[in-house]
Amino acid sequence: MTTIIENAHVVTVSGDEHPGGHLVIEGDRITAVGAGPAPEAAGADRIDGTGCLATPGLVNAHHHLYQWASQGLATDNTLFEWLTTLYKPWSKMDAEVVAGAASAGLGWLAMSGCATSSDHHYLFPRGRGDLFAAEIEAAAELGIRFQPCRGSMDRGESQGGLPPDEVVEDLDTILTETAAAIDRYHDPSPGSMLRISVAPCSPFSVTRDLLVRSAELAREKGVRLHTHLAETLDEEEHTSEQFGMTPAEYMDSIGWLGPDVWLAHCVHLHDTDIKRLAETGTGTAHCPSSNARLGAGIARVSHLLEAGATVGMGVDGSASAEFVPLAGEIRQALYMQRARYGPDALTARQALEMATLGGARCLGRDDEIGTLEPGKLADVALWRVDGFHAAVDDPVVAFAFGGTPPLERLLVGGRTIVAAGTLVSVPQDVIGRRGADAHRRLMRLAEEVL
Ligand SMILES: [Zn+2]
Repeated sequence: MTTIIENAHVVTVSGDEHPGGHLVIEGDRITAVGAGPAPEAAGADRIDGTGCLATPGLVNAHHHLYQWASQGLATDNTLFEWLTTLYKPWSKMDAEVVAGAASAGLGWLAMSGCATSSDHHYLFPRGRGDLFAAEIEAAAELGIRFQPCRGSMDRGESQGGLPPDEVVEDLDTILTETAAAIDRYHDPSPGSMLRISVAPCSPFSVTRDLLVRSAELAREKGVRLHTHLAETLDEEEHTSEQFGMTPAEYMDSIGWLGPDVWLAHCVHLHDTDIKRLAETGTGTAHCPSSNARLGAGIARVSHLLEAGATVGMGVDGSASAEFVPLAGEIRQALYMQRARYGPDALTARQALEMATLGGARCLGRDDEIGTLEPGKLADVALWRVDGFHAAVDDPVVAFAFGGTPPLERLLVGGRTIVAAGTLVSVPQDVIGRRGADAHRRLMRLAEEVL
């Protein structure tokens, strides 16, 4: 089946822009991108992109979907205070909570132009169903490209970690379950809708052993590695005390920097850390709203980009930045970098690149997604910039500087997931209700610990 998008301002993110341009899609792939009208194709489904900006489908490089069920709590706390408050209700979640939260969280992402999302699920309370399967099913139902990380924590309070002992797993269980998740779900084939990554939670909640063994497992299986790093100064204090190193130095010392690794946040980096991230090809997922909500700081994104490092964008768990749309993070990143480092710290096009190609590089998928080029997957977002946004001549500036324009269409692998701002693969009101029900269920399950 052939789909043609025409008369749109096409931003390929690979260098070219075509005002009044077109895209031709065959099946799940882009076959042509160019200026002017599209070539004739009998029987093609033609989408008129007049008044629209066409960008690659956005890529969310960091998230915790289960947190949709615990939004609006611990609203005025630091990361460590927030975590120690929320570990309690999270310890009571079950597969039903995760299913509803993931459904709502992924639907929300799709409505802000996200075609591919990662997720970092690191909490597996015993005897509460298959939490990992629940989020994978939610993504498949919606039709979004998914890269969930089998996360983990094995260093509870009794071992000097931050989380209470009852929410951590032992090393052997984690390694067995993670290997099983990769064997069961990871699809390395071209056009894959589902890939798995390995993701111990953070240096303050996992042992050195788990980090080392996880890296061995991921490299043996050919999957990517992810974790949180240098999110707050509390973390740096923690690694200085425990290991005599900055968080990035610690990870470097155990083989955790490299082209197969991407790290969430990286707010507090020293110059030497930035240099190491760039020279090792390690990616960073920038989460500006979450960092602001928790008062963690502003990541040195412009310095990372200047050094040639890979930077993607992430909304982070919904409980540390309620209802954050991925497209909105482009504006957040732009303004926060400029507020801190000056008006030339980040351009609209650089911010868009972070949310597309940067994220694709973090997930190791830049060969197939993140730009609009022939041969790549047809993950395309079409934004309406002909209403109020038409008061700005440059549609990329209108898109990035202002409030996010309406999403006219989101295609994932050529399939329509959002049309005229509304989810079409699953009814939007159903998904919204599932998210609210997941919250109420978690609050009920957690009653005795709250
Ligand atoms: Zn996170």
